Amino acid sequence: MNDVMQVVAKGWYRLYYGLILLFAIAIVGAGIATRAMPDFAQYQVAYGLSDITLIVAGILVLYCLTAYWIINRTSPPGAMLGASMLLTLLIFQGLILSAPGQGSWAYVGAWLVTVLFSGMFGLAMVTGSVFFAAVYVLFLANAPGGWLTPHAIAMLAGSAVIAIISYFFWRSKFLDPANRQLTQLTGMLQSNQEQSAILIQSIADGVIVTDNEGKIGLINPAAAAMTEWGVTEATGLDVHLVAKLKKEDNSELSLDENPFTLVLETKKQLSQNYVLTGQHEKQQHISLVISPVAVPGGGIGGAVAIMHDISSAKAAEQQRAEFISTASHEMRTPVAAIEGYLALALNEKVSTIDSRARGYLEKAHSSTKHLGQLFQDLLTSAKAEDGRLSNHPAVVEMGEFTEQLAEDLRFGAQKKGLASEFLVGTNGAIDATSDSESTPKKVIKPLYYVYVDPDRLREVITNLFDNAVKYTDNGKVSLGLTGNNEVVQLYIRDTGPGIPAEDIPHLFQKFYRVDNSATRTIGGTGLGLFICRKIIELYHGRIWVESTIGQGSSFFINLPRLDTTKAQMLQKSPGTSPSAPASPPS
Ligand code: ADP
Repeated sequence: MNDVMQVVAKGWYRLYYGLILLFAIAIVGAGIATRAMPDFAQYQVAYGLSDITLIVAGILVLYCLTAYWIINRTSPPGAMLGASMLLTLLIFQGLILSAPGQGSWAYVGAWLVTVLFSGMFGLAMVTGSVFFAAVYVLFLANAPGGWLTPHAIAMLAGSAVIAIISYFFWRSKFLDPANRQLTQLTGMLQSNQEQSAILIQSIADGVIVTDNEGKIGLINPAAAAMTEWGVTEATGLDVHLVAKLKKEDNSELSLDENPFTLVLETKKQLSQNYVLTGQHEKQQHISLVISPVAVPGGGIGGAVAIMHDISSAKAAEQQRAEFISTASHEMRTPVAAIEGYLALALNEKVSTIDSRARGYLEKAHSSTKHLGQLFQDLLTSAKAEDGRLSNHPAVVEMGEFTEQLAEDLRFGAQKKGLASEFLVGTNGAIDATSDSESTPKKVIKPLYYVYVDPDRLREVITNLFDNAVKYTDNGKVSLGLTGNNEVVQLYIRDTGPGIPAEDIPHLFQKFYRVDNSATRTIGGTGLGLFICRKIIELYHGRIWVESTIGQGSSFFINLPRLDTTKAQMLQKSPGTSPSAPASPPS
């Protein structure tokens, strides 16, 4: 189809449609004027400015605008352009026929100008326009004045002569096929480029494209607004200078941790949340996805970063956490009071109750205790989430610390009829303190120093130990300590029912409880392990579980180990510790 018509340069088509557009607008304007102003009413009939004419002219306006839009976007095939010329001629025919008086000469003139352009659509259109003129004359054949009117002669002869001139004029301007293909391709490419440019400029997310050295090649207005730089100002600069990033907790990133550096070095996509600081210090939380741009041959040509502002989501999350912590804090007080009164009611020294009432009150007491624990856990987890957990780290020698704790904890196990043991050593037990032994063996133990808040760590170990006791019906619960030069490892092992493999990945999530008969009967909030994870992560540690169904579970905690000299130095000058509350000073 493309080759049926000849094609000239786009500019000519623009000129053609532009002229017709002006003409159609003039008709619409005149039509409105003759209706609005009585002085001009006479021209309405003379120029055939009937309602039909106005509608036809209106169609012409729309049609020209559409044609203009198509031409600007793509390189339209010749046949399509030809068809549009046919339509124009048809519309003119309509106009000439609807203007009976002298005014129709104006339309004949316009028709002849159109015919002059027909050559640029190729030979088919040139002959087509003469054919149309002939059809018009045939239409007049039945008119009272016969067919050889001045109108008819002007239409037919004028069209024929102008069509021939037009053909020879435009022939020299036809594009050869290769050139046509090229213009078509250029048009498509241009339109694709325009489309992506429009897309990138208008999306609300920030987009930064860098070369493989981190120099900004493209930055869209959204990214410019987020970083508080101008688009032209930022283009060509190092991305580290423009997109200043900090960790989510507002701590500094080292150059090695910078996501742009990481992606350009590792060639792997990265997606994480950061705090972005603008040129004028405006801070916002963003989620950042950086993808490497591969180039043929295996290398990378740069990176594309998409920044999404999550400040409002963060603020909402903060509000929710604040609500939870305020609500649980406020509710703890009345619950504690109820628990106290229930305890008084159950105390035989102060109250007299019958055995049935005692049964009810005991149930109420245990539920209230559960409720109190739930509020306490909610409060702690809300604080752990937004980093408000009170935290006073100090140098702790884990051997002594855990041994003492094991002493306190074993009563819980004893109460349930379970054995308990405390093990220290790298391979199995170097030193064991078990229930059965009245005098513990003393051997030289390594000193395992860590830098943590002892109260927080006690909370974690107690929670894990209590869980082990809670979910184990018979057997033993062991608390162990081991380590190497880098880490100190704690473990709590039980001979309980074990945890199904499919639950293990979710176990440290908020409110997650394994759905089985044990958990349905044993009370719990599903917050304990979540809080444990949050606390351990605060000290750059790791917590995980290994479990075999029917044999038991082992919860492990790894904490970074402080070497003895550093630990002793810190112990001598404890004033240095508050400046680095969470991480061991290096
Ligand atoms: P909960 O208050 O329910 O104990 P946790 O967060 O402490 O909440 O524990 C989450 C879930 O993990 C528990 O509901 C239980 O199903 C499972 N779980 C934890 N510790 C053990 C264990 N030692 N043995 C078996 N299952 C356990």
